Amino acid sequence: MVTRHRAAVTYSIRPSDLALHLFDVSVTVALPAANGQVFILPAWIPGSYMIREFARNIVKISAQSGGKAVRLKKLDKHSWRAAACRGPLLVQYQVYAWDLSVRSAHLDQTHGFFNGTSVFLRVQGQEHGQHVVEILPPQGDAYAKWRVATALPELKAKRYGFGSYVAGDYDALIDHPVEMGEFELIPFRAHGVPHEMVITGRVPNLDKARLAADLTKICEAQIALFEPVTKRAPVSRYVFLTLAVGDGYGGLEHRASTALICARADLPVKGQTEMSEAYRGFLGLCSHEYFHTWHVKRIKPAAFAPYDLQQENYTPLLWLFEGFTSYYDDLILVRSGLINEAAYLKLLAKTLNGVLRVSGRLKQSVAESSFDAWTKYYRQDENAPNAVVSYYAKGALVALLLDLSIRAETKGRKSLDDVMRALWRRYGRDFYSDGSKAGRGVTEAELEALFDDITGLSLQPMLDRAVKGTQDLPLEAVLQQFGVSLNSNNKPRSVALAVRTAREGNDCKIASVFENGVAHQAGLSAGDVLVALDGIRVTATNLETLLSRYRTGDVVSVHAFRRDELMAFTALLKPDTAPQLVLEAQPKPAAALRLRTAWLRKRG
Ligand code: ZN
Repeated sequence: MVTRHRAAVTYSIRPSDLALHLFDVSVTVALPAANGQVFILPAWIPGSYMIREFARNIVKISAQSGGKAVRLKKLDKHSWRAAACRGPLLVQYQVYAWDLSVRSAHLDQTHGFFNGTSVFLRVQGQEHGQHVVEILPPQGDAYAKWRVATALPELKAKRYGFGSYVAGDYDALIDHPVEMGEFELIPFRAHGVPHEMVITGRVPNLDKARLAADLTKICEAQIALFEPVTKRAPVSRYVFLTLAVGDGYGGLEHRASTALICARADLPVKGQTEMSEAYRGFLGLCSHEYFHTWHVKRIKPAAFAPYDLQQENYTPLLWLFEGFTSYYDDLILVRSGLINEAAYLKLLAKTLNGVLRVSGRLKQSVAESSFDAWTKYYRQDENAPNAVVSYYAKGALVALLLDLSIRAETKGRKSLDDVMRALWRRYGRDFYSDGSKAGRGVTEAELEALFDDITGLSLQPMLDRAVKGTQDLPLEAVLQQFGVSLNSNNKPRSVALAVRTAREGNDCKIASVFENGVAHQAGLSAGDVLVALDGIRVTATNLETLLSRYRTGDVVSVHAFRRDELMAFTALLKPDTAPQLVLEAQPKPAAALRLRTAWLRKRG
């Protein structure tokens, strides 16, 4: 049974000590559980599949009822039980907020940001009632101009004002991140629905008009993809919360907003009109997170419906939710006219080269990589290139393979878009409604049947090999049917050690050793600090220059420190094996050109 109380759970949150990065948080429970109310903070945040133990950041916590202290017993690393009392029960605590990422919370004199998963204790047993939160301003004249940005609906607050906001349940409360500070506000409409880009951080001469125009194209293209007839957006309002810093990149999706972090240099400058790689990357990030509004926030794997936020939620389907989203993020840029066909094929080639670079692709399938995201993809160590395949990058190539195969085999009558729309109709559109289809995720068996059902083809064997196998995908043949040739660029190959390096002061440290490369065969290891090549000092920046004097077959001596011991190695030099494939569009034949045009043409 679910008992609904109106505003049975009320929170307040206030930036209390900005220099110490502390939020003061309280939760009031009108009717606490008779045998002692349990409070729990999530261990992870949806969209970022790693146990983060947010309760580590609760600095002090206490409870009271009717002015009298109530004992709180800690049950485990993120749960407390209050002694039985009649209520209302008030729990007060401080949260340390100093994680400059989209996943947690951050507070200082320049702004405040939080995800509910970091700050709002779950009141066990009352998750399904209405949750109200009062967002209070920091004290002091210096913060008089601070405003609030969130997609959470206002209860008693003006838009962008401090005051109370409301969520239908706990799941909604923690799915609406909140930004506060003096931010830039860029409003625009996509198919009639209000959208806002909020930018915190100093960004001189920001071209707001260009940003609004480009984002409108991206959002409208996605709305039209999922709802080609009604052009109905899945939300009544959407907010991009962006923090611009010196160097950073990341995003996390939510049901009606996204939290982004980017480099200031990624954002467009007034007067510039060309599409820089940095700005294209930022638009790709916006496109990616916006696509998740349908795909993973509403169409979900069964394992996420509902989430269990206290432990790992295993699913073999992240290749579908992250990989397909990664396929569509750039595809939307070309379909909305923001980049051209040549630029798009370059991006595809980059993804393909990235996957082919790592031998981990021959050992782990994307289904396995999805399942083990918690311990492998999200916790990559120096051995990751030799052990892990990215369900983002290879998942995007699986989407490409399926899309092109469907288009070619149905002579353009069907495409992956039809599969996405079917997923949307069956599992996504009514996910947050009260109807019979609400809250249901897609199972693996349903997904496997759906591809063939929607396309009328027998895609099952291909899908099985692509998702559960470790062979390279047969992309060359299918690209050929679209008049896209897959060739190696014929630039002469210089010799290379086949390592990833990291700068450490003025030293060059090996970050990863690629399996079967020169360094591996010479016995070098990740963590080794390169000292000299044939007796000449290696610095943080000169490795390539030193190697450029050698040819394939040359033998060099390499000195390196492992821990504090100097070691000598002999390396037989070989050409760089990093794949350098290029995708080139051919003007003929006409049938291929027709297919390619239908795939990449500008919509709308
Ligand atoms: Zn994603």
